[in-house]
Amino acid sequence: MEAGGGEQPERQPSPLGHAGVVGAGIAGLAAAIALRRAGWRVEVFERSQFKNEIGAAITVTPNGALVLNRWGFDMEKAEAVPNLSKVIALATDPRVILDRQEYADRGRELGHGVWSLHRVDLHRGLRDLATTPSADEAGQPVQITLGCAVEEVDCEAGVLKMADGQTVNKDLSLLLSDFTGYPCEARRNNRSIYRWLVSMDDVMADPDLREIYSNEPPGFMAWIDPGTKMLWTTYRCRGGKLLNIALGHQTQPFQVEKNGWHAQVSREEVLATADNYHPSIKKMVSMANEDGIHIHHVSTRPPLDSFVRGRTVVVGDAAHVMMPTHAAGAGISIESAASLEVLFREVNGKDSSTISCRLNLFDKLRIPRCNLTMLASNSKMGRLRQPGVVDEIRKFYHGPLPPPDALPYSEAWRQILFHHDEYRAAEELLAQASSQKSTLAEGG
Ligand SMILES: Cc1cc2nc3c(=O)[nH]c(=O)nc-3n(C[C@H](O)[C@H](O)[C@H](O)COP(=O)(O)OP(=O)(O)OC[C@H]3O[C@@H](n4cnc5c(N)ncnc54)[C@H](O)[C@@H]3O)c2cc1C
Repeated sequence: MEAGGGEQPERQPSPLGHAGVVGAGIAGLAAAIALRRAGWRVEVFERSQFKNEIGAAITVTPNGALVLNRWGFDMEKAEAVPNLSKVIALATDPRVILDRQEYADRGRELGHGVWSLHRVDLHRGLRDLATTPSADEAGQPVQITLGCAVEEVDCEAGVLKMADGQTVNKDLSLLLSDFTGYPCEARRNNRSIYRWLVSMDDVMADPDLREIYSNEPPGFMAWIDPGTKMLWTTYRCRGGKLLNIALGHQTQPFQVEKNGWHAQVSREEVLATADNYHPSIKKMVSMANEDGIHIHHVSTRPPLDSFVRGRTVVVGDAAHVMMPTHAAGAGISIESAASLEVLFREVNGKDSSTISCRLNLFDKLRIPRCNLTMLASNSKMGRLRQPGVVDEIRKFYHGPLPPPDALPYSEAWRQILFHHDEYRAAEELLAQASSQKSTLAEGG
């Protein structure tokens, strides 16, 4: 494999620089789209063959939707469902509502709502944005090489070493694995999540479930068991045809060996775990579609002080793996991509000094936002009341925080986590840095 990847058609302008991205998950693809738009030539190395794209659904919050909209992501084609409310009721009596948050107006106000998508549809839409040739400002198509595992990265030099021994030199690398230079592994905590999809037709054919779902706008409908702290969350995706279900619970000793997006469990196991739940809710277990029920063990890791090393940036879950409490992991990665787009416009890949300054600005923008989101997501029930959480957040983030008992998707949390325009934040910081540089130059 050669640096810069293959010959360019003659009419294409020369790229400003060459970037290599390790991994074509949501974060890697978002970063690749952003750098393409900034005028860079991007090559993504993905170890899998994408034969089994990950199933189940994902919710994109307004901070991420803002970036997707700017890129022209086609929500209609991806059959994204507007997510308008979060309702939490009691596991033992589905009619007892404990918390209700409605944010339909908020989404409209910002022009970017909360959206729920099948993961495959989001992934496909991002791949299209990355790879489709375009005559406009979208830049040269990203090249994605499948079945190509990156084994080592020389972060300072920007050299990627592949599993087959070949090396690729890049001006900038975006790395989706540990790069700190010291042990900083993601570790499983004691929570696991069962995940499955059911047909909305099956749900609506059941009188009890029809009563629940026909009275609520599309959004999160969840049931909590306060005793076991289990949370059964549902929301619609793929044009409202599928219902996504996630059941968070404490990991059982017999589950430890099963992991990964494709690890399956039996319906009997889920029913036994959710024994306390009301029979009408448990009916959704037998409705699991042909993909079956999967288990995912949740991992966390300490926050990083920097996402940058040499010419390398770490993005996505490799930088800030988090619990899905605020449904914010992918959104914050898409936000980071917007930073890269702004910071790397008009930057030449051979200009090491400017690259280093821009990566420094990337850290200034992203360390506070990403670590806040991760630490808030990893606190119990997404609240700040847990001892030590605020102190930990304050090491990285000094902006406003919600009251200690604010729940995920409450107005206070939405304001801080989701009502954020990363394009504006990056453009402002860049303008500030440029004006400081000119003042210094004039003074000197
Ligand atoms: C149950 C659950 C529900 C969630 N719900 C939400 C939600 O509603 N909203 C939200 O915003 N977030 C949600 N998240 C978080 C979100 O899924 C993740 O933050 C996001 O998918 C991370 O994307 P990524 O690209 O960083 O990682 P991944 O999706 O893991 O992608 C990494 C890619 O890199 C490839 N790769 C890894 N190592 C190498 C290598 N050495 N060489 C080549 N390729 C490599 C892998 O094959 C993979 O394709 C949820 C997470 C979980 C577990």
